[in-house]
Amino acid sequence: MKITVLGKYGPFPRANGATSGYLLKGEKTNAVIDMGSGTLSRLLNAISIKDLNFVILSHLHFDHISDIFPLSYALNFQKNKKVNLYLPNCDLPVLEVIKGLNAFNIIFVEEGKVYNEGEFTFSFYEVKHPVKAYGVKITNGTRTLAYTGDSVYVENLKNLVDGANLIIADGAFLKEVHNDKLPHMSIAQAVSLERFSKGAKVMVSHINYAYTDEEVIKEIKMHSKSAFIAKENTEYNV
Ligand SMILES: [Zn+2]
Repeated sequence: MKITVLGKYGPFPRANGATSGYLLKGEKTNAVIDMGSGTLSRLLNAISIKDLNFVILSHLHFDHISDIFPLSYALNFQKNKKVNLYLPNCDLPVLEVIKGLNAFNIIFVEEGKVYNEGEFTFSFYEVKHPVKAYGVKITNGTRTLAYTGDSVYVENLKNLVDGANLIIADGAFLKEVHNDKLPHMSIAQAVSLERFSKGAKVMVSHINYAYTDEEVIKEIKMHSKSAFIAKENTEYNV
């Protein structure tokens, strides 16, 4: 299974960048995890829309969902194409808008449930963010991806990353500016998740628009030999 970084920024992109979104490609099944601004154009570069099998939204902040709306138009042009959309049930007004998109079958995720799509099996872990948010662990039986979505550092992240081969982690802040009131992990906290996974590599993502890659890489290297920064339009083996 392979993962392509469609967008890695938050809460808005740097010029020519995109906010959070990842294409997961299996042997026969393709999924997109989060659909931030600028990701649809890149998704269409990577696969034909008819080959998209399902969509996961970690939470309903705009930098994770904004291209879900034009994606619904793209799917509408595919006859009989309705795809499963997994997302948190919450009280945000935008959820009502998403529920009105006829391109999707809406599935509210529950922690503790196991879901299947094609060769993928996946489960959700509630994390901590100002809105209802989940990380997702997804496996093809041999390789496993864990994606934190947006979260502060909480115990449940240990369960999320257990058994993973690759962790995509929210590392939105440099340590010197990070504090406990911020809704994201520091880069140091994101990288530290590798400890709970028995050998997974951490991809640091949800990069704050204000930072250069060089600043982020420097901080990653202070805390890990194997962790690395997400690179947009790049495909990785899980
Ligand atoms: Zn968020």
